[in-house]
Amino acid sequence: MDNAQRGYFGQFGGMYIPEVLHTNIEELIRHYKAVRADPSFWAEYKALMSSYSCRPTPLTYAENLSKHLGGAQIYIKREDLNHTGAHKANNVMGQGLLTKRMGKKRVIAETGAGQHGVATATMAAKFGFECEIYMGETDVKRQRPNVFWMERLGAKVNVVRDGTKCLKDAINAAFRDWSYSMDTTHYVLGTACGPYPFPEMVAWFQSIIGTEAREQILKAAGKLPNYIYACVGGGSNSLGIFSGFFDDKGVELIGVEAGGKGLDTGKHAARLVSKEGQIGVAQGMKTVFVQENEGQMHETHSISAGLDYIGVSPILADLHEKKKVRFEAATDDEVVEAVRLVIRKEGIIPALESAHAFAQAIKEAPKMKKDEILLVNQSGRGDKDIFIIADALKDEEWEKFIIEKAEAYRAGR
Ligand SMILES: *Cc1c(COP(=O)(O)O)cnc(C)c1O
Repeated sequence: MDNAQRGYFGQFGGMYIPEVLHTNIEELIRHYKAVRADPSFWAEYKALMSSYSCRPTPLTYAENLSKHLGGAQIYIKREDLNHTGAHKANNVMGQGLLTKRMGKKRVIAETGAGQHGVATATMAAKFGFECEIYMGETDVKRQRPNVFWMERLGAKVNVVRDGTKCLKDAINAAFRDWSYSMDTTHYVLGTACGPYPFPEMVAWFQSIIGTEAREQILKAAGKLPNYIYACVGGGSNSLGIFSGFFDDKGVELIGVEAGGKGLDTGKHAARLVSKEGQIGVAQGMKTVFVQENEGQMHETHSISAGLDYIGVSPILADLHEKKKVRFEAATDDEVVEAVRLVIRKEGIIPALESAHAFAQAIKEAPKMKKDEILLVNQSGRGDKDIFIIADALKDEEWEKFIIEKAEAYRAGR
């Protein structure tokens, strides 16, 4: 079979890679299929996640928020309680175990905001791997705290100065590294995107969310949920929770993209629900990208760095086309309001990414019946977003604190 015909989900996916990467991808497919067929691998993965990353993560009944909105009973799957603060741990630890099985000693990864870079560097420290992270120059400047932690964790952060100096350029640089380092190196791709087998493999590691959530909701509520909301960046946390319920009739799955400043402004990262979202081939896959008319990639915008990406998982593009998942978008303003409400009602700080799922749930819950069950996947915790949230809420004391800190630094030099 021609490589471009393998690894498809409906009309999306494939393996659009340069010739030099074929051996790497074939080797990866072989190892991925082997561990997937080996129950001892999944058992080792589950044991690792329970001793290192708080799994199974709890399911929390949001009693106050449910009462406040006056509709469905709201439950939250707490991926924020993972080590390093998000579901990203599920993917990196899984790929770490795979790297060990492949006998490799070096890992590389791309990162946008730096969350995946920190998670990969954490995994590399734990497993004793050499680690290099590719990150666009623009992102390095915006995300100093994450660069600081990656370096403390022992990773080398390579600044990428090509293109728009953002996530997609970091991905291209990581593939370039991999094309001459495959003997020693595994590329830990951060979401359910890229060439086959990455979309399927990452979704598989994340399926631990859905498997747990299904058991937990049956125990807590005595029945399956009517609605499940998850935010959609590359697509890994949404696929993770949705996959536990694909075969269940009567469970509606809702993916929420970044509506940014509004779908009619062009300043968003909504691939599946905006007019800028068009089918194309890039980054190793055929999927829906935010594009200009001539196939030029469009600049994306979102208040949440983790949803700010031009492409979306080919698996989700297929589920969208087959109408198995409903897609919506939440704007930056709605997201900030959702963060504020969830903090005050539940004492839980959602990441700005996760708050997209909350924002859509908050819009729809009041219209639902009181005996209906609504489940939100809280992909991560929001402490990391203090700079953005404090700005958005116009907290004057925070602004004073930042200025005074900067002045103290200057005086000390
Ligand atoms: C990275 C990130 C996302 C987006 O990635 P997906 O692959 O779409 O899950 C969502 N939430 C948080 C907290 C993240 O860190």
